[in-house]
Amino acid sequence: MKARFLLIASLFLSGSALAQTTPPKRPLPIIDVHVHAMKVNPSFAIEMCPWFLRDMPGGDPNQQMRAFLNTSCVDPLQPAKSDQEMQDAVLATMERLNMTIVAYGDPQILRKWKKAAPDRVIPGIGVSGPNDMSVQAFTDSLSGGFYKVMGEVAPQYQGLSPSDMSLDGYFAAAEKLNIPVGIHMGTGGNGMANISQAKYRASLGRPFLLEDMLARHPKLKIWVMHAGYPMIDEMIGLMGANAYVYVDLAGFIWSYPQEEIHAYLKRLVRAGFGKRILYGTDFMVWPKLFEASISVIENADYLSFDQKRDILFNNAVRFFRLDPEKFK
Ligand SMILES: [Zn+2]
Repeated sequence: MKARFLLIASLFLSGSALAQTTPPKRPLPIIDVHVHAMKVNPSFAIEMCPWFLRDMPGGDPNQQMRAFLNTSCVDPLQPAKSDQEMQDAVLATMERLNMTIVAYGDPQILRKWKKAAPDRVIPGIGVSGPNDMSVQAFTDSLSGGFYKVMGEVAPQYQGLSPSDMSLDGYFAAAEKLNIPVGIHMGTGGNGMANISQAKYRASLGRPFLLEDMLARHPKLKIWVMHAGYPMIDEMIGLMGANAYVYVDLAGFIWSYPQEEIHAYLKRLVRAGFGKRILYGTDFMVWPKLFEASISVIENADYLSFDQKRDILFNNAVRFFRLDPEKFK
């Protein structure tokens, strides 16, 4: 009896000793390939209800524009109120979710984030038109070694095709330096052309517009941001013809109605491109957006566990030529 008691006691003790020395199990790694590192702009720091574009307002140019971010849900996402609050929230979320981000935007913010979490931030630099910076300045920036990615490249907002020759020198630099490129194609937000971006053209988001540029740069590795939404047929046609083109799910994954998001994602997977889809958010100011967006993938009942892992992690490791050992 006593011996048995001792055995149980020692089992209990070794169990608790084990619990004290074993670190808590980390969640499986995630890579978010589409994060904007921005200075907090108080006028843009408003609450947001994900999947808000389920009810496009039927407006009139003679009336005041209705706010296109609706806040009429039970638990709207809260924006960070200062740069420090933003950094703290992004860093804490990356730790909690075991997440690495590909981030671009304000160079000062980006350098601060990188310094605070060197293993979790992969910095990118974008050029969207010839007036942003010279090809030489861009090449010098890439050669410096800090930037590992070219993005977000968004000529569509400037009324330019990605194959416009005014951008060719930048793509040539990325190709030469073996830098992957993320290009905005497709959706730009509700009423973009007549509310905030007068030069924006929906037609300049057509995935086939990438073909001439890709033909000129056969070693360039690109991913089409926002998966060219909603032009799924051209997206599939482009990926079929160009073996190195990937897509990300950013933006539409948390703004359009969930049924529409799933129909688009399902079509990409059904067409055979499950290994070429990258998870991304288009994060701007709402720290809880990371979890809200991940839940869309986690809840996709038409995807297997392996397909979800590909989208959330494996495909990005392959695309960005990362070392999977570093994530163990
Ligand atoms: Zn974009």
